[in-house]
Amino acid sequence: MARTDHRTPNVAGLRPRSKLVHGGIQRSSFDETCEALYQTSGFVYGSAEEAEGAFANDGSRLVYSRFGNPTSNMFEQRLATYEGAEWAYATASGMAAVHAALWSNLRTGDRIVAPRALFISCYWVIKELSARFGVEAEFVDGTDLGAWEAALSRPAKMVFLETPSNPGLEVVDLAAVCELAHKAGAKVVVDNAFATPVLQRPFEFGADVVVYSATKHIDGQGRCLGGVILTKEKAYGAEVIHPYLRHTGPTISPFNAWLLLKSMETLELRVAAQSASAQKVAEFLEGHAKIERVLYPGLDSHPQRDLIRKQMTGGGNMLSIFVKGGKEQAFHVLNELRMVMISNNLGDSKSLSTHPATTTHSKLTPEEKELAGITPNLLRLSVGLEDPQDIIDDLERGLSTL
Ligand SMILES: *Cc1c(COP(=O)(O)O)cnc(C)c1O
Repeated sequence: MARTDHRTPNVAGLRPRSKLVHGGIQRSSFDETCEALYQTSGFVYGSAEEAEGAFANDGSRLVYSRFGNPTSNMFEQRLATYEGAEWAYATASGMAAVHAALWSNLRTGDRIVAPRALFISCYWVIKELSARFGVEAEFVDGTDLGAWEAALSRPAKMVFLETPSNPGLEVVDLAAVCELAHKAGAKVVVDNAFATPVLQRPFEFGADVVVYSATKHIDGQGRCLGGVILTKEKAYGAEVIHPYLRHTGPTISPFNAWLLLKSMETLELRVAAQSASAQKVAEFLEGHAKIERVLYPGLDSHPQRDLIRKQMTGGGNMLSIFVKGGKEQAFHVLNELRMVMISNNLGDSKSLSTHPATTTHSKLTPEEKELAGITPNLLRLSVGLEDPQDIIDDLERGLSTL
């Protein structure tokens, strides 16, 4: 007798890694093994009545790929199943996800609270757009619970945070900040890009919305941009965020959604391997004569070690490396690299390193750089899937000749 669920496998009883392989599948009547790529903008109807019904119903029938597409839905459902979300929507980039997650719910006169240590575009989307549209934005030291408490002693509509932050690797106490935010009436949006869904589960600490730049570890192979918005409660996603998305159109392309869907199958394996290698690289750099300081969530020397153990299950693949000296010394280390590539992307299978002060964060004022910890001697390293000893050898070449 044929299995009845082979077209839409029920993964509820499976362990997380298996959900990454089988979650979200909607097989067509051809019963393909590999998820199908529905490269289509629209959908057709057998009659005028059917079209009328499709527009009148609850949205379960697909009508246009800006609202939903079978391949994009499979990607969204696979991540939602893994993350424990009730609703998800894939966007064209991580910034499209950040933008919509915030601005779908903000109105003139509202308040938003966020840490100072943010990815530059997240900072812009909050600071610049708030100023334009009459929203009050308050930036705090994300590591200081007293500062959060003070900022959230007044009503707020949204709280946005990255933990760990890009590139300063500052960690925010998710449980404590979510509690304060909810008392102030705010929804909490967590940008979980650095931790990845593998190493940190923000919904379990009270987050309302989780966003990803899927460009990073979810693709993990440098092939496309993408983003995802996930909500803990279906109604908030479907009623507040979805109307904003379907009318403003930051939708992912089905092809990119298909790449990301297939990448999910190896996400846990890749992140675990990258995290283990990053730990080795961080231990090599710690105490190195040419290194002033290395910040890595997996090291005991990280100032927020206890909090990290409470809310993350691994250190991740990102390191902040402070070389002894300044820009000249940092550039020397970059220029001596042979295998590790100089690039401002991250989460890739290839190890990538960048000098944030002159690239990703070059538009910040000197004061903003200082507050965000972007010093001239800082290098950001994204550890890839190579043999960690080759990454260490590459770094040592530049360090030993300083
Ligand atoms: C890269 C990144 C983004 C933006 O993602 P894109 O896919 O480049 O638009 C947002 N937040 C964080 C923390 C990031 O690292």
